[in-house]
Amino acid sequence: MPASFASRTRRTRPPTCTRSLVPADANLLFPCFDQPDLKAKVTLTLTTPLGWTSVANGARLRSESTSRGLVTTFRETEAISTYLIAFATGPWAEVQASGTRKSITLYARKSRLAEVDADSIIRANDRAATWLEEYFGTPFPFHKLDVVLAPAFPFGGMEHPGAIFYSEERFVFRERPTLPQRLGRTATIYHEVAHQWFGDLVTMEWFDDLWLKEGFATYMAAKMQDALDPASEAWKSFYLRNKPVAYAVDGSDGTTPVWQRLGNLDQAKSNYGAIVYNKAPSVLKQLNYLVGDDAFREGLQLFVSRHRYANATWRDLLDAIATPARRSLRPWGDDYILRPGMPVLEQRLEVRDGRIARFALVQRPARALSGGRPWPIRTELLVMSDKGEATRIPLTITSDTTVVDELTGRPAPAFVFANSRDFAYAVTLLDPGSVASLERTIGSVKDPFLRTMLWGALWDLVREALLSPQRYVSLVLRELPNETDEQLVAGLLSRLTRATTAYLAPVLRDASLPDVERTLLRGANNADTPYGIRKAHFDAWLRVAATQPTVDLMAGMLDSTTIAGEPLQAPTRWAIVTRLMALGAASAPELLAREEARDRSPEGARRAFVARAARPDAETKRTYFTRYFADTSLNEDWATASLDGFNSLESQALTLPYLVPALDSLPWIQRNRRIFYVGAWIGSFLDGQTSDSAQVAVRAFLEQRDDLPLDLRRKVLQAADELERTVRIRRAFSVAAPTS
Ligand SMILES: [Zn+2]
Repeated sequence: MPASFASRTRRTRPPTCTRSLVPADANLLFPCFDQPDLKAKVTLTLTTPLGWTSVANGARLRSESTSRGLVTTFRETEAISTYLIAFATGPWAEVQASGTRKSITLYARKSRLAEVDADSIIRANDRAATWLEEYFGTPFPFHKLDVVLAPAFPFGGMEHPGAIFYSEERFVFRERPTLPQRLGRTATIYHEVAHQWFGDLVTMEWFDDLWLKEGFATYMAAKMQDALDPASEAWKSFYLRNKPVAYAVDGSDGTTPVWQRLGNLDQAKSNYGAIVYNKAPSVLKQLNYLVGDDAFREGLQLFVSRHRYANATWRDLLDAIATPARRSLRPWGDDYILRPGMPVLEQRLEVRDGRIARFALVQRPARALSGGRPWPIRTELLVMSDKGEATRIPLTITSDTTVVDELTGRPAPAFVFANSRDFAYAVTLLDPGSVASLERTIGSVKDPFLRTMLWGALWDLVREALLSPQRYVSLVLRELPNETDEQLVAGLLSRLTRATTAYLAPVLRDASLPDVERTLLRGANNADTPYGIRKAHFDAWLRVAATQPTVDLMAGMLDSTTIAGEPLQAPTRWAIVTRLMALGAASAPELLAREEARDRSPEGARRAFVARAARPDAETKRTYFTRYFADTSLNEDWATASLDGFNSLESQALTLPYLVPALDSLPWIQRNRRIFYVGAWIGSFLDGQTSDSAQVAVRAFLEQRDDLPLDLRRKVLQAADELERTVRIRRAFSVAAPTS
């Protein structure tokens, strides 16, 4: 992830100011060329107020009190790129854990220290570094490793060599975390530690190859989780976290290749997004499956030893893996690294007299911009018999239509799935027979990873407007009470809320809503299920609940002491207030004022700012929209957090007039805001709309603004795809589906 350093602010306050060096801002700190292939050894001396502690890439050599303050000198680093330089200084608390392989110090704000789960954070960093040393067959590449919990940090983490920064906000849980939250934190740690090799030791030559470091860090994090904690089902998390996001962007007209041409460093920020963070690790999974575990590992070891403390390109990587794999990977690179877009794989199953007459897989590009030729796909086909016996068939697909002859004549299956275990990078469209069967039996599929993928495949059909969202909603409502997999439940709930609030036409939504609300609330209060499942139900209920009785119920919850069986804490209290504001509840402003009085922490102030943005009145929207540009004191983190509330679906008629101005402002946003803001900005404004009028406005914008830089145009097309799909789904299923 990108870089940041915490700089010192007012003497009496903890360090809450963060500035980014990534991708190319080191020159604002000292004279340099911001090119990742110009590496240097860095020495640093910091003068700070007395009593402060400083941490940087290099180890601290000594601190001396002088008349100017405390002067701290750091050891010279190994050769590193400018975007990786970092320091943090302030009245930090320092924590170490006993029994770790590496001597890791964690730096945290003293005021938050009591809530920091320091031992487990340090141990996860230690475990990751130790595992990677073994995997790469090379020692940790920097002379020390420390971690900093940085307040108001704009990213989940940043891989500064020897001094990894993590977002304090995301790493300190203010209420009991759910399983996806805990796994997410571990995945971030593994990702940043993997960067010490991929990104820090071997760096991409230029930002066109940003995927090299990001794709690898995420892929290696999953591999590590799989090895270190098999029970957590790392590949299921990997699928849930990466595939839907990658497919959503890669199946749009705004997609780019994994390797992204970059003429000017000004546009480097545009290369950050789902293609490098989610598609790149997914195609690495495909590559690993294609060449096998041994060749993959040997290739990576070769890559690291050839380019250590230096730079490399994607061709260097494929050449390194090609050696032990004994095959050229350049053609594979042409399809998966240089070519934009992705394949859609359709299952065609013909059954006659209870036997398979023909089974074929037909692939096509999701979008015309990919060109017509087929992708080479290595996948695993799963055939499930009526008796629940699974047959797995490894397949190599190289043409538009692949007939699987060995299935011909076999008994008709319960269902077939062409991407078992998620090795292929392709949206898989189930055949109608498999859909009908799964609609009856999906809850009885025993393997949680397979069940998760099948739910995903049904959802892909909804997004293609081939399966009614109402049928999906009914199916989820039927199966939710019996689903015990916490990660899958979280995934189902997010689809249920999207389908209910956006995909269902208004009449159908109003008809379904009471049922959805009831099921969610029952799930939240079900004492027989684990906390994480209850909490996920409650959070989904908050996102979707809108009928008057539930609004009253919601307001009353602020007076209770527990939610989902746990003490009611500030984050959930604020979520309730924000939802009440979005719904325009009469009591909401009063409840917000009470909450502000109750929570006087800086986080409380931020949450109040976010909650106010959700208020459905024209004056609020006007004030916020103006502040996003004119208020120079507005913290970017606050602004980002408020965008979803500003654009809540309940306000869409009020925010529609801001849609085109928001898109018009993109060049300004790109110049003046940090890496992830552009994506958050476009995504919030477009996802906040579901109407035909919004679709017309966006299409007109794209047609008229042919002067918009290509990178920004693509970002708009990426996000507009969801609006296009939403309108298409609503039109295709505007009347109630027959009950099946
Ligand atoms: Zn990263």
